[in-house]
Amino acid sequence: MYKNPKETEYASWWNKTISDAGLADNRYQLKGFFVWMPYGFSIMKNIRNKWDYLFALNGIQEMYFPLLVPVEYASRNASWWNSFKSQAFYALGYEETEKNAFLRPTGEPAMYPMFSTWIRSHRDLPLRIYETVSSFRNETKSTKTFVRDVEIGPWYEIHTCHATREEAENEIKLAIKMNEELFLDAAIASIKVRKPPADCFPGSVGAVEFYTTLNDKLIENASCNNLGQAYAKAFDIAFTDKDEQKKPVWQTCTGNGERILAAIIGNHSDDKGIVVPPKIAPLQAALIIINSPQEEVLDKIDLGIDKSKILILTAKAFSEIGELRFKAERMGIPARIEIGPKELLASEATLISRAGNKKSVPFKNLKAELAKLLEKLQNDLYDASKKELFGRIKECDKIEEAEKAQVALVGWCGKTECSDWIKTKTKKDLIGMTLEIEKKKCIWCGEDGEKTYFSAAY
Ligand SMILES: [Zn+2]
Repeated sequence: MYKNPKETEYASWWNKTISDAGLADNRYQLKGFFVWMPYGFSIMKNIRNKWDYLFALNGIQEMYFPLLVPVEYASRNASWWNSFKSQAFYALGYEETEKNAFLRPTGEPAMYPMFSTWIRSHRDLPLRIYETVSSFRNETKSTKTFVRDVEIGPWYEIHTCHATREEAENEIKLAIKMNEELFLDAAIASIKVRKPPADCFPGSVGAVEFYTTLNDKLIENASCNNLGQAYAKAFDIAFTDKDEQKKPVWQTCTGNGERILAAIIGNHSDDKGIVVPPKIAPLQAALIIINSPQEEVLDKIDLGIDKSKILILTAKAFSEIGELRFKAERMGIPARIEIGPKELLASEATLISRAGNKKSVPFKNLKAELAKLLEKLQNDLYDASKKELFGRIKECDKIEEAEKAQVALVGWCGKTECSDWIKTKTKKDLIGMTLEIEKKKCIWCGEDGEKTYFSAAY
């Protein structure tokens, strides 16, 4: 675990780590934009493959909407548009002066006018779709690659419409379950919180957000929004029910993306570089062949994994090995296998985990030992992430304890004046209430309240 309280040092470590590992190049001359490098993109693609798999498994269909949104669509939801329009990126033809379209900040203004066209009767429901796309936010705060970008992508967004509130609630439960599975493969521990009503869209039922650790803070990582009928009313998404009555639909939306990779970098890295969890690692093993014929080595060993998942590195002399080891470590490849003339003769290899454990393994056991190593590393990474996150959380009865805790779990009554006081006093942000309601008296006013997390957050 890499932790550094000084944000400036963390920022330079962050940039160096992602550049050394070949994840991204952030020298692109536009603030908040970067170039995905092949290795970084292949890791992100594996994360994306996982969500594609999960959504298909659960009957959510993939679509693609245009990146440009007509201003006319957005203005149908006047309150949303008025609060957003000053931050929009407008798209103008060279000789155009009128702002007719802008780059999508979220899916709602692009999708919901179309939903309104498609949905007529209860037979058109439920509508359950997603797209993987870039979102654009004119970010005024300082940007950080994979954490806060102007072009946010690849980003998935699930949008669903239902006939009943209960169906929408079940959809939220499913969204939570799918996000848990994504984080399990990424070996990332998370907490789930309910957002207080003031932080949700006006008129919506509520939102559940995932938080993971990054440096000494928490970071929002996926949000599942139970929109109620608020957007449906604004965008006129209505259906004729079995009783012949016209009713607005119940909606949910869930989204996340590159921050899963950000959590991996933040959670699973050391001074040598990142550690990619085996379940999403595009390269499972680096095979370093030292001063030996490559064909002969490949002929004699069976790693039990696809050749495309092995990075083969060859060294003509022992003096070249250091650089190759360093490369494999920086890239966070889970396993390293080294074979030189001596090993080839003895039919054994040196097997090294990215976590550091090293042993000699006869060629005939290599496949089984590698599988064991990958499984152990995956589990160890997840355990370390859990230990880190849950080790930070402290349930506090006194405000002095909450000041000292990294993540304070305190009672809060729901009143803004109390949360403002807690935030000021502890220098922390309000993260949210525990997923299941847990009663606890408000740490400030003493009235009935709920257990609520407060922490510094990105
Ligand atoms: Zn209170």
